[in-house]
Amino acid sequence: MNLYSDRMQALIDELSRLPGIGAKSAQRLAFHIVNLPSEDVRRLADTMVEAKTKIRTCRRCCTLTDQEYCPICSSPSRDPSTIMVVENPRDLAAYEKTGRYEGLYHVLHGAISPALGIGPSDIRLKELMQRLQTEDVKEVIIATNSSLEGEATAMYISRLIKPTGIRVSRIASGVPVGGDLEYIDEVTLLRALEGRVEL
Ligand code: ZN
Repeated sequence: MNLYSDRMQALIDELSRLPGIGAKSAQRLAFHIVNLPSEDVRRLADTMVEAKTKIRTCRRCCTLTDQEYCPICSSPSRDPSTIMVVENPRDLAAYEKTGRYEGLYHVLHGAISPALGIGPSDIRLKELMQRLQTEDVKEVIIATNSSLEGEATAMYISRLIKPTGIRVSRIASGVPVGGDLEYIDEVTLLRALEGRVEL
């Protein structure tokens, strides 16, 4: 038996499918939403639909953007000879917050995981290799997570790049194992970046 009306229950069900939203949070959010003024609810819904339809991946670094090229790739003050490879846009944001990295990025949108059936062709690796052929890159810094998948991905990428003669480095360990980069403080990130080792 549903405790709430069908529509209320449908809203709770949808919300509880979001990451990090348990049954209780979903209920709280659902009640909050139905108590909001109609225009606020519409704005929320419109913003979600708008984001989903307008946001795409940058033609150069594959991060999420609503332009053809993201602000970092479009900036003339960034150093295009260094590319930092990260797993997702949130990791990129974490490094950007340090304000100390001046190169470009490449966002893989995942990591290689044989256990989950995610292979090299399932992440944006081909795009990275294409960039290395067409751009004047001197160093690739691999900043994938220090999880099993992140390490496997780093190894795989370094093996691919090594023959090209481009310098490949890996951020220093000290980034907690399995830790998402976005939860790591800026000092730790900077230390990991500055202490990177050549592979
Ligand atoms: Zn970009």
